[in-house]
Amino acid sequence: MRALYIKKPLEAEVGELDSPVLAPGLVLLRVRFVGMCGSDLSSYRGKNPLVSYPRIPGHEIAATIETVGEGVPEKFQPGLAVTLSPYSSCGKCASCLRQRPNACRNNQTLGVQRDGALTEFIAVPFEKLIVADGLRLRDLSLVEPLTVGYHAARRGRVSPTDQVLVLGCGAVGLGAIAAAAFHGATVIAVDVDDRKLELAKRAGAHVGINSKTQNLNERLQSLTEGLGPDVVIEAIGTPETFRLAVELVAFTGRVVYIGYAKDEVRYDSRLFVQKELDILGSRNALPEDFEGVIRMLNETKFPLEEMVSKVVTLDQAPQALQDWYAAPASISKIIVEL
Ligand SMILES: [Zn+2]
Ligand SMILES: [Zn+2]
Repeated sequence: MRALYIKKPLEAEVGELDSPVLAPGLVLLRVRFVGMCGSDLSSYRGKNPLVSYPRIPGHEIAATIETVGEGVPEKFQPGLAVTLSPYSSCGKCASCLRQRPNACRNNQTLGVQRDGALTEFIAVPFEKLIVADGLRLRDLSLVEPLTVGYHAARRGRVSPTDQVLVLGCGAVGLGAIAAAAFHGATVIAVDVDDRKLELAKRAGAHVGINSKTQNLNERLQSLTEGLGPDVVIEAIGTPETFRLAVELVAFTGRVVYIGYAKDEVRYDSRLFVQKELDILGSRNALPEDFEGVIRMLNETKFPLEEMVSKVVTLDQAPQALQDWYAAPASISKIIVEL
C-alpha cells in the first residue's frame, strides 16, 4: 500500500509500505481523509524536535472500518465511519494514574513520535476509535484539531457567566472560541487578520478585536466594565501573548496556555500573586473532548468548510507541503483525500 513519507526535512514523497497486520483488539481502518495542520508543516520543515525521519505524518483522521480483530466490541462493524484519538498513554505515569492520559509523560502521537495515518490502511486499538454520528465523513478529520481548543476551554472551567478572551484565531483558537460559546460564555476573539476574526464570529465569538488596528486594552476595558476577562486562553504561542494573557485577565481570573512559547518568557510574577490567578496548561485532549466537539458540531453552525484551505490527493500531497512551506500564511489546513 502507499503512504506519504517525510524522508528528511523539506523532502516528502509517496512510497510503498507493507499493509498492517490485524491482531486481537485491533481494528483495520481504511483511511479516507487526513487533515494536515501546522504541526505537520513543522515536521516537514524539520522544526519539531520530537520527530525523527523518515516519518509518515497524519493525526487528523476520517476513516471507515475495514475488518476487526478478535475481541473487538460488536458496535465496531465494517463500514462504520470513525475518527480516532491519535495519542497513546502508558497507564503508569502520574497523569495516567490521575485519569489524565492526554498529558501522559510517555505519550506518542501518531505522525509525530510514531508513524501516522497518511497511508491507505492503519491498524489501531479499538479503544482509540470515536464514532461520530451526524457528521459527514470528511468532517471527521476536523474533529481532532478542534478538540485541542475544546480541552483548553474545559481546563479554564468556562461557564455561562464568564467573559472569555481568546488570543489567536487559528484552528486551535477557533476550537476554544466555539467551545467557550458552546458552554454559554461571552467570547471576545483577538487576531491581527480580519478574515480570521470574521471566521471567529461565525464560530461563536461575540466580539472580534483586531489588535493591530484597534487598541486592545481600551476595547477590553469597555467590554468588561474595567474588570478584565474572567478567562484568557492563549492560542498563539509568543512570549508577548503569554505575558499579555496575565496582564489582561481579571483579578482571580484563569489563564490557559495551549501552545509553547518558542522563546523564553519574562514575567512580572507580582501579577500571579496580586491577582491570585489560576494559570493552567492544556495539552492534547481527552476522549470526552472528542465527544464534546462532535456534540458541538451537531448542535451549532460551526463553519467547518471555511477551516479547510484545500483538498488534495495523496500524489499531490508532497507538492502541497512544498507550497505550504513557501507561503505558510496563505494556508491553514490541507486535507488529503485517499
Ligand atoms: Zn493537527
Ligand atoms: Zn502515562
